[in-house]
Amino acid sequence: MIGLLNKLFHRGDADCNEVRKLSSDYLDEDLAPTKRSVIQAHLSNCGPCRAFVDTLASTIGLLSRIPKVSAPSAFHDSVMDRIKQEKK
Ligand SMILES: [Zn+2]
Repeated sequence: MIGLLNKLFHRGDADCNEVRKLSSDYLDEDLAPTKRSVIQAHLSNCGPCRAFVDTLASTIGLLSRIPKVSAPSAFHDSVMDRIKQEKK
């Protein structure tokens, strides 16, 4: 971890592997502001990493939305009917 930080700050930029390793923390807003800005600087110069983070962001967005969406009751009822029928 210390080595990673040294590398980030020594070069003033992160390489792609480091950005991708930190990208979930970045999206969770779990990073120190200095690290965030290093990653932001890298993303503004690196299309592939930007695409990677975009994909990750939409994946995380989808995953975090799922528990909040309750199944429509009609769907729930039909699933329950099917389960009851299968038990017979
Ligand atoms: Zn990159």
